[in-house]
Amino acid sequence: MTAIKPEVISDPRVLSERLAEIRRQGKTIGLVPTMGALHDGHLSLVRQSQSLCDVTVVSIFVNPTQFAPGEDYEKYPRVLDTDLAQLESVGGVEFVLAPKPADMYPEGFDAHVHIGGVTRRLEGEFRPTHFDGVAVVVLKLFNIAGADMAFLGQKDYQQAAVIQKMVRDLNLPVEIRVCPIVREEDGLAMSSRNKYLSPDERRQAPILKRALDLAQKMISEKVTDAAKIKHEMRALIETAPSSAIDYISIADPETLDELESVGGRAVVLLAVKIGTTRLIDNVVIP
Ligand code: AMP
Repeated sequence: MTAIKPEVISDPRVLSERLAEIRRQGKTIGLVPTMGALHDGHLSLVRQSQSLCDVTVVSIFVNPTQFAPGEDYEKYPRVLDTDLAQLESVGGVEFVLAPKPADMYPEGFDAHVHIGGVTRRLEGEFRPTHFDGVAVVVLKLFNIAGADMAFLGQKDYQQAAVIQKMVRDLNLPVEIRVCPIVREEDGLAMSSRNKYLSPDERRQAPILKRALDLAQKMISEKVTDAAKIKHEMRALIETAPSSAIDYISIADPETLDELESVGGRAVVLLAVKIGTTRLIDNVVIP
């Protein structure tokens, strides 16, 4: 991969013009939307984009509209210089869009994007305004970049489902690729929010993955009663003293409707606070 320095652009209109020229040359554009504080999970999406598209664009934007008052918008890590150094060492990223909130939401901005169905439960229940904020920013990013493909992580399973539904329902001309979850050695899914964990909480955090492994094991041993599986998962997670469960769900992988019985394909999802840090994780049962 060419060790180029990405061109960092803050004004979305400037990026659109640069990419329009690239499209005229017949090149394909891959977009990796992020909120920065990049880790190997993000970089795996970048590599996937590089392997499938001619030009890769990474957006780094802590999107205010997807945070509710009292959530971690202010304290979310912002480390643009470190992020750029990482992208430079991976190589092959042509553009980084790093806008200010006012570049994305100028004075007078007043648009809303609401995707129904898959947004209702789980994250949507605990963070009722979250997916409207995600949908509006992702739709803007798709339009700004004119991306042929967008690369998302399975880590945010419901978010990927919402974006896929938005693409289908609104006929957006972009192909969504959902990439596997990248984990730390002890199983904890990589996340920019892992930085919030104290050393003691960090030791407890792999309990999420252990609970997902337990579910997977029970399902492979032909346990079909979803309530029973969730009960066992809950009991395991509660052995971590700093844990507080928001939800444990065994759901249909497309609609995210809760399943009573696990027979075929399913997704097991959970959201657990460790101390004050809210972590999410999931596993797809084939
Ligand atoms: P974020 O910066 O947290 O908004 O994440 C940006 C993108 O990276 C989203 O599509 C996430 O699903 C994806 N992502 C975050 N963590 C991981 C991970 N551990 N493995 C794979 N993809 C991830």
